[in-house]
Amino acid sequence: MTNTAFSYEFFPPANNVSERAFWRSVGCIETFDPGYFSVTYGALGSGQARSVRVVKDLLEVSDVPVAAHLTFEGATIEEINTVALHLKEIGVDRIVALRGDAREDARLAYDRGPCYESVADFVSGLLKIHPFDISVACYPEVHPMAQSEQADIEELKAKCDAGANRAITQFFFNIDDFERFRDRTVRAGITTPIVAGVLPIRDYQKMISFAGRCGASIPARINKAYHRVAGDAAAEKKLWQHEFNTFVEQLIERECNQFHIYTLNQPVDMSHFISVEQKPIARSAAAVA
Ligand code: FAD
Repeated sequence: MTNTAFSYEFFPPANNVSERAFWRSVGCIETFDPGYFSVTYGALGSGQARSVRVVKDLLEVSDVPVAAHLTFEGATIEEINTVALHLKEIGVDRIVALRGDAREDARLAYDRGPCYESVADFVSGLLKIHPFDISVACYPEVHPMAQSEQADIEELKAKCDAGANRAITQFFFNIDDFERFRDRTVRAGITTPIVAGVLPIRDYQKMISFAGRCGASIPARINKAYHRVAGDAAAEKKLWQHEFNTFVEQLIERECNQFHIYTLNQPVDMSHFISVEQKPIARSAAAVA
């Protein structure tokens, strides 16, 4: 288990109550020896400044490395490079480089100046600013807007060839989909490590809505299991933790050893995977208290 690496994704909290929950989760997860934390950027076109502030706060109070997500959709090259430069200046060495979901006003950016045309282009641009450690996104079930499975994998190859250090998958629930995807990357000559993005199903209804938006299919077995426990908070908690542990274990059995956990700003109990001896002292937990 010692070669298994876990990173944890958070989104910038929107108000004081969610901010407290966020820091509690950070403090909890810090005790499980995280590889790094990541903070999403401008999801649904909002909160970009908040995202940079949260990255800065995390860098100040936690010893865990922090990756800033950065999306180029809707911004000019100059605008996005300014943010990247600022991130570098505040001590960020890791970027998750993304297109971002298309916004209604995305075309307006082209009126303001030149824009990045692809994530590969973006990765190259970022590497001219600083030798960032760069992660990109990938899609075991194919991105819903991709022209074809082949086009999707070619796009991923271009991102990797541009210098990405790893590719993090969209969440998925079917391990065979992940294995087929890994086979496709091998056939395409992609040697960049593929990191399994795992969503603990803590809130079934929320998960259904996310899965619908990003095209992740949900096995009937999972639907049945969650329907059986619906309304019983204790049983729901037991179920999601069991499903999460089992899913990660099965992936480890299939030689996957890098995981990116979509925390949704909730604590995740990783004691099943991380031994007590490995646990470092949590600094930010103290900052929250
Ligand atoms: P690409 O590599 O360009 O797209 C992936 C595939 O979809 C390619 O095949 C591409 O051709 C196709 N595609 C995408 N958009 C289009 C389009 N408009 N027309 C035609 N084909 C298209 N979003 C955020 O806003 N903020 C975040 O912080 C964030 N973090 C993420 C982290 C991870 C690990 C993942 C998996 C996704 C994240 N996303 C985030 C969502 C991501 O921005 C969307 O999935 C976006 O639609 C594609 O981004 P990409 O970087 O994969 O782009």
